[in-house]
Amino acid sequence: MAQHIYDYAIIGSGLTGLSIAAALSRETSNIVLLEGADVAGGVNKQINFPTGSINNGLRFVPDSVLSEKAMRFLESLLETKVVADVSEEAPITYDSGNFKTFLGFGENPPAFYEELNYFTSSKKLDLAVEPYQWTQMLLQKFTGDFMPRSYVTKFHQENDKVTSITINGSKTLHAHNFIFAGTVKDLAILLPEDAVSVRARSKLAKNNYWTALCLDLCHGKAVTESTAMHVLNGTTQDEIGPCAGRFLPAVEVEGQTLQASQWITFIESEVTDDSESVGLALKKIKRQVKRAYPEALDDLKLERIFVSPIIAGNGDLKLSANMTIPSLENLWIASATVNEQKNLVGSLLQAEMIVASLGFKVQEVEHLETDFQEASM
Ligand SMILES: Cc1cc2nc3c(=O)[nH]c(=O)nc-3n(C[C@H](O)[C@H](O)[C@H](O)COP(=O)(O)OP(=O)(O)OC[C@H]3O[C@@H](n4cnc5c(N)ncnc54)[C@H](O)[C@@H]3O)c2cc1C
Repeated sequence: MAQHIYDYAIIGSGLTGLSIAAALSRETSNIVLLEGADVAGGVNKQINFPTGSINNGLRFVPDSVLSEKAMRFLESLLETKVVADVSEEAPITYDSGNFKTFLGFGENPPAFYEELNYFTSSKKLDLAVEPYQWTQMLLQKFTGDFMPRSYVTKFHQENDKVTSITINGSKTLHAHNFIFAGTVKDLAILLPEDAVSVRARSKLAKNNYWTALCLDLCHGKAVTESTAMHVLNGTTQDEIGPCAGRFLPAVEVEGQTLQASQWITFIESEVTDDSESVGLALKKIKRQVKRAYPEALDDLKLERIFVSPIIAGNGDLKLSANMTIPSLENLWIASATVNEQKNLVGSLLQAEMIVASLGFKVQEVEHLETDFQEASM
Protein backbone atom coordinates (compact mmCIF):
# COMPACT_ATOMS: atom_id res chain seq x y z
CA MET A 1 0.00 0.00 0.00
CA ALA A 2 1.36 3.49 -0.88
CA GLN A 3 2.33 5.45 2.22
CA HIS A 4 0.27 8.50 3.09
CA ILE A 5 2.02 11.86 2.77
CA TYR A 6 0.49 14.75 4.71
CA ASP A 7 0.70 18.29 3.33
CA TYR A 8 1.57 19.56 6.80
CA ALA A 9 2.77 17.83 9.97
CA ILE A 10 2.46 20.14 12.99
CA ILE A 11 4.41 19.08 16.06
CA GLY A 12 2.97 20.34 19.36
CA SER A 13 -0.66 21.23 20.09
CA GLY A 14 -0.19 24.21 22.43
CA LEU A 15 -1.57 27.61 21.52
CA THR A 16 1.04 28.02 18.75
CA GLY A 17 0.50 24.64 17.06
CA LEU A 18 -3.29 24.86 17.40
CA SER A 19 -3.39 28.37 15.87
CA ILE A 20 -1.48 27.14 12.83
CA ALA A 21 -3.59 23.98 12.65
CA ALA A 22 -6.81 26.03 12.68
CA ALA A 23 -5.49 28.46 10.05
CA LEU A 24 -4.28 25.73 7.68
CA SER A 25 -7.57 23.86 8.08
CA ARG A 26 -9.11 26.61 5.92
CA GLU A 27 -6.90 25.37 3.05
CA THR A 28 -6.72 21.59 3.45
CA SER A 29 -7.60 18.73 5.77
CA ASN A 30 -4.48 16.79 4.86
CA ILE A 31 -2.78 17.90 8.09
CA VAL A 32 -1.59 15.92 11.07
CA LEU A 33 -1.27 17.51 14.52
CA LEU A 34 1.10 15.50 16.71
CA GLU A 35 1.03 15.85 20.49
CA GLY A 36 3.22 14.06 23.01
CA ALA A 37 0.69 14.47 25.84
CA ASP A 38 -2.77 12.87 26.20
CA VAL A 39 -4.68 16.01 25.30
CA ALA A 40 -4.28 19.20 23.27
CA GLY A 41 -3.68 22.62 24.81
CA GLY A 42 -0.06 22.66 25.98
CA VAL A 43 0.37 24.88 29.03
CA ASN A 44 -3.05 26.51 28.61
CA LYS A 45 -5.56 24.17 30.20
CA GLN A 46 -8.86 24.39 31.99
CA ILE A 47 -9.17 23.48 35.62
CA ASN A 48 -12.45 22.88 37.35
CA PHE A 49 -12.37 24.86 40.57
CA PRO A 50 -15.09 25.12 43.23
CA THR A 51 -15.69 28.65 41.87
CA GLY A 52 -16.10 27.38 38.26
CA SER A 53 -13.71 26.80 35.33
CA ILE A 54 -10.48 28.81 35.39
CA ASN A 55 -7.06 28.88 33.71
CA ASN A 56 -4.49 26.55 35.26
CA GLY A 57 -2.54 29.39 36.86
CA LEU A 58 -2.42 33.14 36.54
CA ARG A 59 -2.91 34.55 33.02
CA PHE A 60 -2.50 38.19 32.06
CA VAL A 61 -2.15 40.03 28.74
CA PRO A 62 -0.69 43.57 28.92
CA ASP A 63 -2.05 45.96 26.30
CA SER A 64 0.36 46.85 23.47
CA VAL A 65 0.28 47.30 19.71
CA LEU A 66 1.62 43.75 19.35
CA SER A 67 -0.95 42.30 21.79
CA GLU A 68 -3.75 43.89 19.80
CA LYS A 69 -2.32 42.56 16.52
CA ALA A 70 -2.03 39.06 18.02
CA MET A 71 -5.61 39.19 19.33
CA ARG A 72 -6.96 40.28 15.95
CA PHE A 73 -5.33 37.19 14.42
CA LEU A 74 -6.86 34.96 17.12
CA GLU A 75 -10.29 36.56 16.74
CA SER A 76 -10.16 36.02 12.98
CA LEU A 77 -9.28 32.36 13.49
CA LEU A 78 -12.04 31.83 16.05
CA GLU A 79 -14.55 34.14 14.34
CA THR A 80 -15.31 35.29 17.87
CA LYS A 81 -14.59 38.38 19.90
CA VAL A 82 -11.90 37.50 22.45
CA VAL A 83 -11.02 40.93 23.87
CA ALA A 84 -13.84 42.59 25.77
CA ASP A 85 -12.03 45.81 26.64
CA VAL A 86 -8.75 47.54 27.40
CA SER A 87 -8.56 48.72 30.99
CA GLU A 88 -6.13 50.51 33.22
CA GLU A 89 -5.46 49.49 36.80
CA ALA A 90 -2.17 50.01 38.59
CA PRO A 91 -0.63 46.96 40.29
CA ILE A 92 -0.52 47.13 44.08
CA THR A 93 1.81 45.91 46.79
CA TYR A 94 1.58 45.54 50.57
CA ASP A 95 4.08 47.46 52.63
CA SER A 96 4.24 48.69 56.24
CA GLY A 97 0.69 47.55 56.91
CA ASN A 98 -0.87 49.23 53.88
CA PHE A 99 -1.70 48.54 50.27
CA LYS A 100 0.17 50.91 47.94
CA THR A 101 0.63 51.32 44.23
CA PHE A 102 3.49 49.09 43.09
CA LEU A 103 6.15 51.36 41.62
CA GLY A 104 8.76 48.82 40.57
CA PHE A 105 11.45 46.66 42.12
CA GLY A 106 13.88 49.56 42.70
CA GLU A 107 17.45 48.62 43.41
CA ASN A 108 16.69 45.00 44.23
CA PRO A 109 15.04 43.47 41.18
CA PRO A 110 14.52 39.71 41.40
CA ALA A 111 16.73 37.52 39.21
CA PHE A 112 13.57 36.64 37.24
CA TYR A 113 12.73 40.32 36.79
CA GLU A 114 11.66 40.01 33.14
CA GLU A 115 9.34 37.10 33.80
CA LEU A 116 7.60 38.85 36.71
CA ASN A 117 7.70 42.40 35.42
CA TYR A 118 5.48 41.29 32.56
CA PHE A 119 2.58 40.96 35.05
CA THR A 120 2.95 44.51 36.39
CA SER A 121 1.72 46.52 33.40
CA SER A 122 -1.09 48.95 34.28
CA LYS A 123 -2.81 48.65 30.91
CA LYS A 124 -4.26 45.25 30.19
CA LEU A 125 -6.60 43.45 27.85
CA ASP A 126 -9.81 42.27 29.51
CA LEU A 127 -10.60 38.91 27.98
CA ALA A 128 -14.12 37.81 27.11
CA VAL A 129 -12.73 34.35 26.35
CA GLU A 130 -9.87 32.96 28.48
CA PRO A 131 -6.68 31.27 27.14
CA TYR A 132 -7.83 27.76 28.17
CA GLN A 133 -10.97 28.37 26.09
CA TRP A 134 -8.94 29.57 23.10
CA THR A 135 -7.19 26.22 22.83
CA GLN A 136 -10.48 24.27 22.99
CA MET A 137 -12.03 26.47 20.33
CA LEU A 138 -8.99 26.26 18.05
CA LEU A 139 -9.06 22.46 18.29
CA GLN A 140 -12.70 22.53 17.18
CA LYS A 141 -11.66 24.50 14.07
CA PHE A 142 -9.02 21.90 13.16
CA THR A 143 -10.17 19.50 10.43
CA GLY A 144 -7.10 17.23 10.05
CA ASP A 145 -5.91 14.20 12.06
CA PHE A 146 -5.11 14.77 15.74
CA MET A 147 -2.63 12.26 17.16
CA PRO A 148 -2.20 12.50 20.97
CA ARG A 149 0.46 10.45 22.81
CA SER A 150 2.66 10.88 19.73
CA TYR A 151 6.01 12.29 20.74
CA VAL A 152 8.24 13.19 17.81
CA THR A 153 11.69 11.78 18.53
CA LYS A 154 13.60 12.48 15.27
CA PHE A 155 13.50 14.41 12.01
CA HIS A 156 14.93 12.70 8.91
CA GLN A 157 16.52 14.67 6.11
CA GLU A 158 17.16 14.08 2.42
CA ASN A 159 19.18 16.81 0.72
CA ASP A 160 17.85 20.08 2.16
CA LYS A 161 14.40 18.84 3.19
CA VAL A 162 12.87 16.92 6.04
CA THR A 163 11.07 13.93 4.53
CA SER A 164 9.80 12.08 7.58
CA ILE A 165 9.69 12.01 11.37
CA THR A 166 9.88 9.24 13.92
CA ILE A 167 7.12 9.09 16.52
CA ASN A 168 7.65 7.50 19.93
CA GLY A 169 10.95 6.07 18.71
CA SER A 170 9.38 3.64 16.26
CA LYS A 171 6.61 4.84 13.94
CA THR A 172 7.45 6.82 10.75
CA LEU A 173 5.27 9.57 9.32
CA HIS A 174 5.77 11.44 6.03
CA ALA A 175 4.81 15.00 5.08
CA HIS A 176 5.72 17.71 2.59
CA ASN A 177 6.05 20.41 5.27
CA PHE A 178 6.91 20.21 8.96
CA ILE A 179 6.01 22.86 11.52
CA PHE A 180 7.63 22.57 14.90
CA ALA A 181 5.63 24.10 17.76
CA GLY A 182 7.19 22.11 20.59
CA THR A 183 10.05 22.90 22.97
CA VAL A 184 12.88 24.56 21.06
CA LYS A 185 15.45 23.08 23.41
CA ASP A 186 14.51 19.58 22.17
CA LEU A 187 15.68 20.46 18.65
CA ALA A 188 19.19 19.71 19.94
CA ILE A 189 18.16 16.04 19.88
CA LEU A 190 15.48 16.03 17.18
CA LEU A 191 17.34 17.68 14.29
CA PRO A 192 19.27 15.46 11.87
CA GLU A 193 23.06 15.24 12.25
CA ASP A 194 24.03 17.80 9.62
CA ALA A 195 21.23 20.35 10.14
CA VAL A 196 22.98 22.52 12.76
CA SER A 197 26.56 22.94 13.94
CA VAL A 198 27.84 21.18 17.05
CA ARG A 199 28.11 24.59 18.76
CA ALA A 200 24.50 25.55 17.94
CA ARG A 201 23.30 22.14 19.13
CA SER A 202 25.10 22.51 22.43
CA LYS A 203 23.69 26.03 22.94
CA LEU A 204 20.20 24.72 22.29
CA ALA A 205 20.63 21.93 24.81
CA LYS A 206 21.50 24.41 27.57
CA ASN A 207 18.43 26.49 26.82
CA ASN A 208 16.40 26.43 30.03
CA TYR A 209 16.12 29.23 32.56
CA TRP A 210 13.11 29.60 34.82
CA THR A 211 10.32 27.35 36.00
CA ALA A 212 6.94 28.92 36.74
CA LEU A 213 5.39 27.93 40.04
CA CYS A 214 1.67 28.63 40.23
CA LEU A 215 -0.56 28.43 43.28
CA ASP A 216 -4.32 28.60 42.79
CA LEU A 217 -6.32 29.08 46.00
CA CYS A 218 -10.03 28.79 46.69
CA HIS A 219 -10.95 30.89 49.73
CA GLY A 220 -14.06 29.95 51.73
CA LYS A 221 -15.19 33.58 51.86
CA ALA A 222 -14.86 36.85 49.97
CA VAL A 223 -11.39 38.20 50.74
CA THR A 224 -11.28 41.42 48.72
CA GLU A 225 -13.06 43.31 45.98
CA SER A 226 -9.73 44.38 44.49
CA THR A 227 -9.10 43.01 41.02
CA ALA A 228 -5.65 44.69 40.81
CA MET A 229 -2.51 42.68 40.20
CA HIS A 230 -0.67 42.23 43.49
CA VAL A 231 3.12 42.08 43.73
CA LEU A 232 4.05 40.70 47.15
CA ASN A 233 7.50 40.31 48.60
CA GLY A 234 7.55 40.91 52.34
CA THR A 235 10.18 42.77 54.26
CA THR A 236 13.09 40.37 54.13
CA GLN A 237 15.03 39.85 50.94
CA ASP A 238 15.61 36.14 50.42
CA GLU A 239 16.60 33.89 47.57
CA ILE A 240 13.03 33.09 46.66
CA GLY A 241 11.90 36.51 45.50
CA PRO A 242 8.49 38.10 45.05
CA CYS A 243 5.27 36.70 43.60
CA ALA A 244 2.49 38.22 41.49
CA GLY A 245 -1.16 37.33 41.70
CA ARG A 246 -4.72 38.52 41.89
CA PHE A 247 -8.18 37.66 43.12
CA LEU A 248 -10.99 36.68 40.78
CA PRO A 249 -14.47 38.05 41.58
CA ALA A 250 -16.18 36.25 44.51
CA VAL A 251 -19.06 33.92 43.55
CA GLU A 252 -21.99 32.28 45.34
CA VAL A 253 -21.88 28.48 45.22
CA GLU A 254 -24.66 26.54 46.93
CA GLY A 255 -25.33 29.40 49.33
CA GLN A 256 -21.68 29.94 50.17
CA THR A 257 -19.44 32.80 49.07
CA LEU A 258 -16.17 31.59 47.52
CA GLN A 259 -13.31 33.50 45.97
CA ALA A 260 -10.38 32.21 43.91
CA SER A 261 -6.94 33.78 43.79
CA GLN A 262 -4.05 32.86 41.48
CA TRP A 263 -0.34 33.43 42.22
CA ILE A 264 2.90 32.94 40.32
CA THR A 265 6.60 32.99 41.13
CA PHE A 266 9.66 31.56 39.42
CA ILE A 267 12.42 29.22 40.54
CA GLU A 268 15.64 28.29 38.79
CA SER A 269 15.03 25.42 36.44
CA GLU A 270 17.83 23.34 37.98
CA VAL A 271 15.92 23.09 41.27
CA THR A 272 12.53 22.19 39.74
CA ASP A 273 12.90 18.55 40.84
CA ASP A 274 13.95 19.57 44.35
CA SER A 275 10.75 19.34 46.37
CA GLU A 276 12.29 21.37 49.20
CA SER A 277 12.91 24.42 46.94
CA VAL A 278 9.43 24.14 45.46
CA GLY A 279 7.94 23.79 48.95
CA LEU A 280 9.79 26.85 50.26
CA ALA A 281 8.66 29.01 47.33
CA LEU A 282 5.03 27.91 47.80
CA LYS A 283 5.21 28.57 51.53
CA LYS A 284 6.55 32.04 50.81
CA ILE A 285 3.61 32.83 48.50
CA LYS A 286 1.18 31.79 51.24
CA ARG A 287 3.07 33.83 53.84
CA GLN A 288 2.82 36.92 51.65
CA VAL A 289 -0.90 36.42 51.01
CA LYS A 290 -1.51 35.98 54.75
CA ARG A 291 0.53 39.07 55.57
CA ALA A 292 -1.59 41.21 53.24
CA TYR A 293 -4.90 39.48 54.06
CA PRO A 294 -4.53 37.91 57.55
CA GLU A 295 -7.73 35.83 57.33
CA ALA A 296 -7.47 34.79 53.69
CA LEU A 297 -6.06 31.31 54.41
CA ASP A 298 -8.33 30.47 57.37
CA ASP A 299 -10.91 28.52 55.42
CA LEU A 300 -9.24 27.32 52.24
CA LYS A 301 -11.48 25.02 50.20
CA LEU A 302 -8.79 23.97 47.76
CA GLU A 303 -5.25 24.74 46.78
CA ARG A 304 -3.70 23.65 43.55
CA ILE A 305 -0.07 23.72 42.51
CA PHE A 306 1.07 23.88 38.88
CA VAL A 307 4.76 23.64 38.05
CA SER A 308 5.72 24.45 34.48
CA PRO A 309 9.15 24.92 32.96
CA ILE A 310 9.23 28.26 31.15
CA ILE A 311 11.78 27.99 28.40
CA ALA A 312 12.81 31.61 28.21
CA GLY A 313 15.68 31.39 25.74
CA ASN A 314 16.08 30.02 22.27
CA GLY A 315 19.79 29.21 22.36
CA ASP A 316 20.35 31.90 19.68
CA LEU A 317 18.87 29.54 17.12
CA LYS A 318 19.44 31.19 13.74
CA LEU A 319 16.43 30.99 11.44
CA SER A 320 15.90 32.11 7.84
CA ALA A 321 13.67 35.15 7.27
CA ASN A 322 10.73 32.81 6.59
CA MET A 323 11.29 31.04 9.96
CA THR A 324 12.74 27.82 8.58
CA ILE A 325 15.99 26.20 9.69
CA PRO A 326 18.49 27.51 7.08
CA SER A 327 19.63 24.03 6.03
CA LEU A 328 16.10 22.59 5.99
CA GLU A 329 13.76 24.55 3.75
CA ASN A 330 10.54 22.77 4.77
CA LEU A 331 10.96 22.82 8.57
CA TRP A 332 9.32 25.89 10.11
CA ILE A 333 10.02 26.80 13.75
CA ALA A 334 6.84 28.14 15.30
CA SER A 335 7.45 27.98 19.06
CA ALA A 336 6.80 31.23 20.94
CA THR A 337 10.32 31.19 22.38
CA VAL A 338 11.83 32.16 19.00
CA ASN A 339 9.57 35.24 18.98
CA GLU A 340 10.57 38.50 20.69
CA GLN A 341 7.52 38.07 22.93
CA LYS A 342 7.89 34.82 24.83
CA ASN A 343 4.26 34.51 25.88
CA LEU A 344 0.69 34.14 24.63
CA VAL A 345 1.14 37.11 22.32
CA GLY A 346 4.41 35.65 20.97
CA SER A 347 2.64 32.32 20.26
CA LEU A 348 0.01 34.05 18.17
CA LEU A 349 2.43 36.37 16.35
CA GLN A 350 4.75 33.48 15.52
CA ALA A 351 1.80 31.40 14.28
CA GLU A 352 0.58 34.28 12.10
CA MET A 353 4.07 34.70 10.65
CA ILE A 354 4.41 31.00 9.80
CA VAL A 355 0.97 30.91 8.17
CA ALA A 356 1.96 33.94 6.05
CA SER A 357 5.30 32.40 5.13
CA LEU A 358 3.44 29.26 4.00
CA GLY A 359 1.60 31.58 1.59
CA PHE A 360 -1.74 32.03 3.37
CA LYS A 361 -3.52 34.93 5.02
CA VAL A 362 -6.26 34.71 7.60
CA GLN A 363 -8.71 37.47 6.63
CA GLU A 364 -9.74 39.78 9.44
CA VAL A 365 -13.42 39.63 10.28
CA GLU A 366 -15.27 42.74 11.38
CA HIS A 367 -18.13 43.03 13.89
CA LEU A 368 -17.49 39.85 15.82
CA GLU A 369 -19.48 38.75 18.84
CA THR A 370 -18.37 36.53 21.68
CA ASP A 371 -19.57 33.00 21.09
CA PHE A 372 -18.13 30.40 23.40
CA GLN A 373 -19.83 27.24 24.60
CA GLU A 374 -18.01 25.62 27.51
CA ALA A 375 -16.92 22.12 26.49
CA SER A 376 -17.61 19.43 29.09
CA MET A 377 -14.24 18.06 30.15
C1 LIG B 1 2.25 28.89 34.32
C2 LIG B 1 2.30 29.77 33.12
C3 LIG B 1 1.71 31.00 33.16
C4 LIG B 1 1.77 31.83 32.04
N1 LIG B 1 1.16 33.01 32.10
C5 LIG B 1 1.15 33.79 31.00
C6 LIG B 1 0.47 35.02 31.01
O1 LIG B 1 -0.13 35.42 32.00
N2 LIG B 1 0.48 35.77 29.87
C7 LIG B 1 1.14 35.37 28.74
O2 LIG B 1 1.12 36.09 27.75
N3 LIG B 1 1.80 34.21 28.71
C8 LIG B 1 1.81 33.42 29.81
N4 LIG B 1 2.47 32.23 29.78
C9 LIG B 1 3.20 31.84 28.57
C10 LIG B 1 2.27 31.30 27.47
O3 LIG B 1 1.25 30.53 28.05
C11 LIG B 1 3.10 30.48 26.55
O4 LIG B 1 4.14 31.27 26.03
C12 LIG B 1 2.35 29.96 25.35
O5 LIG B 1 1.07 29.54 25.67
C13 LIG B 1 3.16 28.82 24.78
O6 LIG B 1 2.40 28.13 23.83
P1 LIG B 1 3.13 27.07 22.92
O7 LIG B 1 2.11 26.45 22.06
O8 LIG B 1 4.29 27.71 22.21
O9 LIG B 1 3.80 26.03 23.92
P2 LIG B 1 3.11 24.94 24.88
O10 LIG B 1 1.84 25.40 25.44
O11 LIG B 1 4.21 24.53 25.82
O12 LIG B 1 2.78 23.74 23.91
C14 LIG B 1 3.75 22.92 23.36
C15 LIG B 1 3.11 21.55 23.12
O13 LIG B 1 3.99 20.77 22.33
C16 LIG B 1 4.07 19.46 22.84
N5 LIG B 1 5.36 18.93 22.44
C17 LIG B 1 6.59 19.41 22.76
N6 LIG B 1 7.54 18.70 22.16
C18 LIG B 1 6.92 17.73 21.43
C19 LIG B 1 7.38 16.67 20.59
N7 LIG B 1 8.69 16.47 20.36
N8 LIG B 1 6.46 15.86 20.00
C20 LIG B 1 5.11 16.06 20.22
N9 LIG B 1 4.63 17.05 21.02
C21 LIG B 1 5.52 17.88 21.60
C22 LIG B 1 3.92 19.64 24.35
O14 LIG B 1 3.45 18.44 24.96
C23 LIG B 1 2.90 20.78 24.42
O15 LIG B 1 1.58 20.30 24.44
C24 LIG B 1 2.44 31.40 30.88
C25 LIG B 1 3.04 30.13 30.84
C26 LIG B 1 2.98 29.33 31.96
C27 LIG B 1 3.62 27.98 31.89
